[in-house]
Amino acid sequence: MSIGYIGLGNMGGALAERLQLSHPLLVNDRDEAAMKRLAAAGATACPDAGDLAANCETIFLCLPTSAHVRSVIFDSGLHERLRPGTLLVDQSTGDPTVTREMAAQLASQDVSLIDAPVSGGWRGAQAGTIAIMVGASQDDFDRISPILDDVSSNVFHAGDVGAGQVIKLVNNMISGAQRLLSLEGMALAAKNGVDPAKAVEILASGGGRNVFLEKFAGRVLEGKLAPGFTLGLLLKDLRLACDLGAASGTPLFLGNLTRDLYQTHLNELGPQAEVDASALVIDRIAGTHVVPADHDHVDLR
Ligand code: NAD
Repeated sequence: MSIGYIGLGNMGGALAERLQLSHPLLVNDRDEAAMKRLAAAGATACPDAGDLAANCETIFLCLPTSAHVRSVIFDSGLHERLRPGTLLVDQSTGDPTVTREMAAQLASQDVSLIDAPVSGGWRGAQAGTIAIMVGASQDDFDRISPILDDVSSNVFHAGDVGAGQVIKLVNNMISGAQRLLSLEGMALAAKNGVDPAKAVEILASGGGRNVFLEKFAGRVLEGKLAPGFTLGLLLKDLRLACDLGAASGTPLFLGNLTRDLYQTHLNELGPQAEVDASALVIDRIAGTHVVPADHDHVDLR
């Protein structure tokens, strides 16, 4: 039977393309161009999300926020047409509390909603290595595992519904902080006589190494700042992580600081700027030139 995929943006589009290699797909997005891209790869475009319910036992969603997910499920005609036994798989980085509420609501019509957010970007999806963090009952995890195994070799069962989104928020709090500290370190090195490219080479082999230094710093040094993951989406994740900290009584000194630093960067660059464009703000306040002058265009506000 076909699988449904709703939300074909930077992340959902890449995940759907990967899924499309091993399963017939029905796809939906409010952006017609996004649907056409997937249709060109062999998927069937469905401008009405409700049509997915009639034809798919498993429907994935990858939308900006849990509010979008709620609206697509309950306000687009999908909910009324979902058949008992359907499995909804939310790959958005969402709010675990909202996900648990929606899952409880859907359980009364024998529909399961589980969360399976991802980390590794569209490159990780293409390579089949993206980390998938599943929040689901054991039964639902066993149902979805064979399909997720076709997407990536890195599938993890984090716990019950919502647990995938919890650990994804933890992940982004850590990776967000690492990016800023690494960029500050590159500026510090540059200002004190170490070429930033040399600094990255050395740091990526030292105790300070992290994914930003290993995978993304080189792109920043080349001025490649085209959007892949936007500041607006990252700030949403950091707010959710800090809200979770407040709600659970978990002090997040660095998490809250990281959120507020990205808020200042978003105020400077706008929500659609790529997260690595933070390097432009750090260059400006540090008086450095880590990013080359001919970098991808980003409007500094
Ligand atoms: P995006 O903005 O590129 O894509 C979102 C897509 O959802 C768009 O194509 C949009 O048209 C569609 N959409 C919005 N409302 C809709 C509706 N009502 N009906 C149908 N389609 C609708 O965002 P993205 O970067 O793909 O991110 C999606 C989710 O994945 C977010 O929660 C984000 O935090 C998470 N994520 C993104 C990345 C990344 O590298 N971009 C990595 C990990 C996780």
